Amino acid sequence: MTQLPLPRDNDLPPRWDGHLVEWHGWETQLDVFVCPPPKPTCCRACGTKAAALVNRGTVWTDPESANPVVAIGRARLRRGRHLVGNVHAYRCPDCRTDTVLDGLGPDAQVWELDETDYLDTGSWDRAGAPT
Ligand SMILES: [Zn+2]
Repeated sequence: MTQLPLPRDNDLPPRWDGHLVEWHGWETQLDVFVCPPPKPTCCRACGTKAAALVNRGTVWTDPESANPVVAIGRARLRRGRHLVGNVHAYRCPDCRTDTVLDGLGPDAQVWELDETDYLDTGSWDRAGAPT
């Protein structure tokens, strides 16, 4: 696969609102067979309707982090981490803009990533972002 050189620290945000994100790899949407999330119908940046690549991310709390974490039932404990949720990243095949869908269903939020989201500190809700 040809990769354009990108001036980014990370291919995708390594953190999401301070939580660790475990990305599972890019795939075509045809391969997404379990509860396909609602997808952006076209690229907001360039308008193409070409099928975006999708990368599923599992969001975990980070026991090493000093960030406050939400208390979650111990049943979800996994190697000291707690499952926070799932995100899906969509990459435009034409302009490589990434859009992240946070959550599933009608409550899902769509975020367009900017360059700061690819830093090691990851992506933060702009409203609650440290300045
Ligand atoms: Zn695009």
